[in-house]
Amino acid sequence: DDRRPREERKDATPDATSSSTVGEVVLVGGGPGDPELITVAGAKALAEADVILTDHLGPVDLAEDAAARGAELIDVAKIPYSHQVAQERINELMVERASEGKKVVRLKGGDPFIFGRGYEEIEACTAAGIPVQVIPGVTSMTAGPAVAGISLTHRGLNHDLTLVSGHVPPDSSKSLVDWTALAGMTGTLVLIMAVKNAGAIAAELIAQGRDAATPAVVVENASMPGQRVTAATLATLGETIEREGLGHPAVIVIGDAAGHIAELG
Ligand code: SAH
Repeated sequence: DDRRPREERKDATPDATSSSTVGEVVLVGGGPGDPELITVAGAKALAEADVILTDHLGPVDLAEDAAARGAELIDVAKIPYSHQVAQERINELMVERASEGKKVVRLKGGDPFIFGRGYEEIEACTAAGIPVQVIPGVTSMTAGPAVAGISLTHRGLNHDLTLVSGHVPPDSSKSLVDWTALAGMTGTLVLIMAVKNAGAIAAELIAQGRDAATPAVVVENASMPGQRVTAATLATLGETIEREGLGHPAVIVIGDAAGHIAELG
């Protein structure tokens, strides 16, 4: 019955996870949700992790499997307070655990560097002297349309493909998107975080010159149970989302390429 404080006991019997050994952080892109759409490297990192910090998008089941074999699972999507503070807390948790010698996986939906704040997490680790790696993931921005049977490029139809976040409405002073320039393009636009602002975005694209009859398709819950693919046009996008009750998470594809939806068996 050793009643000395935990720290002293550790010092008496050093082991591989003693606090003197720095661990590491691996940012893993988990893919769009289907647990088979993570990369082999990503699955391997999860299997070897001591600690996993996970969001609600991506292959949450795989994180739970890792927890079942003893990894610590931290659901960072449930951390309270504002988004800003939550990101700082996520950074702190990663650094804390890795400083204890743990192998920490930060599991994210899609790819860590596509609207995923992965770079901020890397900076936090680097500032704390923690070695960090990135394992790319299959982003929902391309996988969502693919599993729905939409090819984002067609020979002879488009030579450009633009990935856009729609979380800020076009008329906001916070918007970093040049909607006028996008309206002048002829190819494919892929939007995420855009369900709420889709009507306003479509109206702005039309106002700036894009054809109102341009196909626009919403892919909800891509690659997951409950996947739903709903076709509209720029003119009807907002009302279609409303009428069908489409919601998060969804990818929206705009452009002539979205007018061709393959029937996948
Ligand atoms: N890093 C992620 C994106 C994070 S932002 C990636 O590369 O995929 C979160 C947004 O991604 C959601 O609001 C939604 O628009 C989109 N998204 C993520 N997973 C999705 C899925 N399975 N189906 C549809 N949209 C998804």
